[in-house]
Amino acid sequence: MKLKFCGAAGTTTGSQHLLEVNGSRILLDCGLYQGHRMDTWERNQNFIFDPATLDAVVLSHAHIDHSGNLPNLCKQGFRGNIYATFATRDLCSIMLPDSARIQTYDVKWINKRRKRNGDPQIEPLYDEMDAERCLRQFVNIGYERPMPIANGVTLSFIDAGHILGSAQVVLDITEGDRHRRLLFSGDVGRGTNELLRDPVLADDVDILLMESTYGGREHELPTQANERIEGVINRTLEKRGKVIIPAFAVERTQQLIYVLHELTEAGRIPEVPIWVDSPLAVSATEIFRIHPECFNEEVYNFLFEKRNPFGFEGLRLIRSVSESKALNASDESGIIISASGMCEAGRILHHLRNNIEDPKNTILFVGYCAENTLGWKIRNHWEEVNIFGEPFKLNANVEILDSFSGHADHSELLHYFDGTGGRKEKVWLVHGEPDRSQALAEALRARHDGEISVAKWKETVEF
Ligand SMILES: [Zn+2]
Repeated sequence: MKLKFCGAAGTTTGSQHLLEVNGSRILLDCGLYQGHRMDTWERNQNFIFDPATLDAVVLSHAHIDHSGNLPNLCKQGFRGNIYATFATRDLCSIMLPDSARIQTYDVKWINKRRKRNGDPQIEPLYDEMDAERCLRQFVNIGYERPMPIANGVTLSFIDAGHILGSAQVVLDITEGDRHRRLLFSGDVGRGTNELLRDPVLADDVDILLMESTYGGREHELPTQANERIEGVINRTLEKRGKVIIPAFAVERTQQLIYVLHELTEAGRIPEVPIWVDSPLAVSATEIFRIHPECFNEEVYNFLFEKRNPFGFEGLRLIRSVSESKALNASDESGIIISASGMCEAGRILHHLRNNIEDPKNTILFVGYCAENTLGWKIRNHWEEVNIFGEPFKLNANVEILDSFSGHADHSELLHYFDGTGGRKEKVWLVHGEPDRSQALAEALRARHDGEISVAKWKETVEF
């Protein structure tokens, strides 16, 4: 069999790995590459294989860097099945159209620049209708329900504990009289997640394709998150200020809602209004409610005690523009969760504009911000930042909480590797910046005799 690394090799986005076995071509993930706008478009538009020649796609989870190029793949002639868990499919049904809207916006920006340079205009990679059509090719499988998907290839999903519906991909492969098991980790969760189960550890793995996002890096302990949030909220509310939390609409927002629910119920924070102001986050929260099969025991029991983990007294979910505007005008003290997490777009910009200059308020970051984004500038305490093209003084208090990461850190990745059974005769590290993957490779070589390599973009390996 052969494996070609078509994305997320030497970088963390654009996850795509092409497996060829017994004459079948199976693509693992079909993510969007996310970088500088212009080369991003080129790279996403031009697949390094012909989409029409693929037999199937196996999707590990709904994050756009793993799923976001699927509508384009189908638009360019892929007609086979897209295998995913039920929750992954449901999240894709809101995230792919949202991605289409973002592309349309980005292309407008790119075309302005191209016009200035006399270059021909470009089209968005796909539109909302392409996103909807691609969803019709999904075939859903629950966790641990083996299903044959190609000649000599049986697929099982096991829980990755990373986001709702996230899976590790287990492929049991027979070539002639040789049986081998290939495991693709997808993105590996940290364990002890507020909502999800810990990653399941696979057995009898011969070939491992493993993520390495946080090789050589350690996160804060997850257990300290609740105490930190409690402190930040109480200090701000005592001053009658607002806590503004820029958060990713899927997963981080629901984790926060659950933690705030717990803190409110335990009387550790006062009962103040908590607004979730993001239509995508509101839709995602509804999807979370209908997937009990994805939750850890605590949240599962919570749900079956007929209590809604994602809805409680004081929580206001805002979809409409008029309600969002009313919230902008309000002086009431409370907590506002809004997207996007990096403050690059979305309703969070209005909340920052209205609240960033008041020292009573706190801006609380609970996720990663890429360099040079507005979120990154605020995290780095710039004195002044531009919002909607106008300068604003950063007088609000800024707090950073990094323990919510959906990705395992270095020690957690080693724990995952050690717990994964089998000979692991060949290991390729994917989904990491070069120095992160290298740091993990070195640590793995010190504890394992099998061949450990860092995958290179466009490289084909045969085994
Ligand atoms: Zn992910």
